[in-house]
Amino acid sequence: MQYQSTRGNASNLDFRGVTLAGLASDGGLYVPRVWPEFSVAEIASMRHLSYVDLAARVMAPFTAGVLSEDELKELCAAAYGSFSHDAVTPLVQLDGQHWLLELFHGPTLAFKDVALQLLGQLFERFLTGTDTALTIVGATSGDTGSAAIHAVAGREQVEIFMLHPEGRISDVQRRQMTTVLAPNVHNIAIKGSFDDAQAMVKRMFGDPEVTGSITLSAVNSINWARLMAQVVYYFWAALRLGAPERPVAFSVPTGNFGDVFAGYVAAQMGLPVAKLLVATNVNDILHRALSKGDYSVSTVTPTATPSMDIQVSSNFERLLFDLEGRDGSTTGARMKWFEQMGKMVLSSDMRRKAALFTSARADADEMTNAMRWAHDHAGQIVDPHTAIALHAARAASLPAEVPVVTLATAHPAKFREAVERATGIRPTLPARVGNLFDREERCIVLPGDYGAVRDHVLGHAARS
Ligand SMILES: *Cc1c(COP(=O)(O)O)cnc(C)c1O
Repeated sequence: MQYQSTRGNASNLDFRGVTLAGLASDGGLYVPRVWPEFSVAEIASMRHLSYVDLAARVMAPFTAGVLSEDELKELCAAAYGSFSHDAVTPLVQLDGQHWLLELFHGPTLAFKDVALQLLGQLFERFLTGTDTALTIVGATSGDTGSAAIHAVAGREQVEIFMLHPEGRISDVQRRQMTTVLAPNVHNIAIKGSFDDAQAMVKRMFGDPEVTGSITLSAVNSINWARLMAQVVYYFWAALRLGAPERPVAFSVPTGNFGDVFAGYVAAQMGLPVAKLLVATNVNDILHRALSKGDYSVSTVTPTATPSMDIQVSSNFERLLFDLEGRDGSTTGARMKWFEQMGKMVLSSDMRRKAALFTSARADADEMTNAMRWAHDHAGQIVDPHTAIALHAARAASLPAEVPVVTLATAHPAKFREAVERATGIRPTLPARVGNLFDREERCIVLPGDYGAVRDHVLGHAARS
């Protein structure tokens, strides 16, 4: 399988190339040249597969020429062995129509582990035996940082530097990063905001003094391999609920549009998806785009669902590319315009082509009500992000014969203050992370000064 950039001005790469590169050199995102397709009979034959075997079957077309299905199976067994539930991503029934897909049984209690645990395995596989050494630099407002650190801690030929705004993430989130004491993990608390940290990371990627001396890599959700790993659980859930004979709908708490785009990919591959519900909080740029064609940036309002507090959803570009006929020069021009103007309009033709998606927006009260409903009617405690999607799922009024799966993206204990406010119940951390508060922390605090951060990274970076 070959991959092309959504902006049409970077060379095509194979799966190994896109995994190590992250972003394309023209600023675009990599997508497969064609969407692989399974027949109805092929999908039906997947029903009996374990999660690991299913993962290898679904991902094999994307890694063709680089990794075989058997090699993928080995990597998936290692990646998903760290999950605390045998089903990896179990389904829980809420009522006659609604289900939760629990994606939070990985080491850091958020769905990002599903993709990043595999990415860690892929990095090791692709670096071993080469003289490449990777330096991963990222900024986090919470979940991505810990999932990325847990994915690469202790691995050879990789150093990871994770910046977070000092004092502005929860204790659980901080400790999930700073208590990982592997020598290749470097936590940096920045005096400043998340945006300051993010700006420094972006600057490093464009700084010749940095890129000229070390190999930088990113692990945010623009990396194709992350999206690919997320396609699997759409198949997993739909197969359990009657696919390929019965179409299934999914409701997805959305930030960067990565998770829900994976559902779109599953549909392109032949999975019968009835609907993809794009659930946003009050930061509703995606809701405005899909319901009215208005994709325009406004200011971010902080909410109880920080992983959805976004201005611009990077992965939306991958959908735009498809909606405009997969032409890189058109998408490239559109994105250049957007980067200058901070807005774009989706034509009615594009919106018609995006009809698989429906969007919904939930405010704080709707989120709280969804948490209460899950608790009172199904005995389930859901985290705030999941509650936003559950609100959208219940508000969508889909026909009764269509099962609706809400993606549960974080363990409720990760956001226990918000859960306690809504339900009066304080969720406890699972035993496997229970001693988080007794463990030693390691983290360096740096001023919000680019030079200081860059010098620290260069001083400890991976060298081949
Ligand atoms: C990252 C995250 C999301 C948003 O996922 P995207 O792929 O960015 O749309 C939702 N919920 C939680 C808990 C997350 O960590």
